[in-house]
Amino acid sequence: MKLIFLGAPGTGKGTQASVLAQKYTIPQISTGDILRKAVADGTELGVKAKAIMESGGLVSDDIIIGLVDERLAQDDCRPGYILDGFPRTITQAEDLDKMLADKAGIDAVFYFDVAEEEIVKRLTSRRTCTQCGYNHNMIYDPPVDGDICAKCGGKVIQRDDDKEETVRNRLVVYTEKTAPLVDYYKNQNKLYAIDGAQDVDNVRQDIIDLYDKLAKK
Ligand code: AMP
Repeated sequence: MKLIFLGAPGTGKGTQASVLAQKYTIPQISTGDILRKAVADGTELGVKAKAIMESGGLVSDDIIIGLVDERLAQDDCRPGYILDGFPRTITQAEDLDKMLADKAGIDAVFYFDVAEEEIVKRLTSRRTCTQCGYNHNMIYDPPVDGDICAKCGGKVIQRDDDKEETVRNRLVVYTEKTAPLVDYYKNQNKLYAIDGAQDVDNVRQDIIDLYDKLAKK
C-alpha cells in the first residue's frame, strides 16, 4: 500500500512509520531524514536547506518534489511505501497526485492527531542519536548517562529544530501550510484519524489494525 503519515511535528508519525515499515518491509520515505543527511554530507542541497531547517521553515516545494520524484522511481518503492513528512503543502499534495496520475494513487492517509501543548512538551524533551537516528525522550525514555544512545551507543543530541522557539515556529508553519491537507485528503475520502495522544504501544496497535483492515479491502 502507498501511505501518507500526516500530522504536526512531534505527533509520533516518524516513530510509527518506522514500526510499520519494518513490519511490512516497505520503505519509509522521510523527507526530513533525506534533508538531514544532505546537511550532514554538506551537499549543495544540504547547504541550501540548512538555515531553513534550523529556523523551522519549509524547504521550497520544487526542491522537495524533485527529491520525492527521484526516490519514488526506485525499485524498492514498487510494492508500496510510507511517506513521512511529505506532502507538507497543498502544492506538494497536488504534485504528488500528478506524479501518481498513471498509477492507482495513494491508498490512505493516516492523520496523527495530538494537542499542541503535548507536542511542545514531547519535542523539547526529544533527543536524537547522531548515529542510528533513534529518538529518546528525556521524560520517559532517556539516553544512558545523559547522552549515550541506549540502542547503539552513539552520541545523543538535541536537534536544533527541537529547541522551544523553533518548535513554536514549526507549529505555526504546520497550521498555516500543512493543516489544510487534512481537508484535502478528507475530500478524497482517504483520511483516517489516529489518536496520537495515546501511549506509543496503543498507537502502534491502532495503526497495525488499520493497515490490516485496509490491506484486506
Ligand atoms: P521533519 O523531520 O519531517 O520534521 O523535517 C525537518 C525539517 O525539514 C522541516 O522542519 C523542514 O524544514 C524540512 N522538511 C522536511 N520535509 C519537508 C517537506 N515535505 N517540505 C518542506 N520542508 C520539509
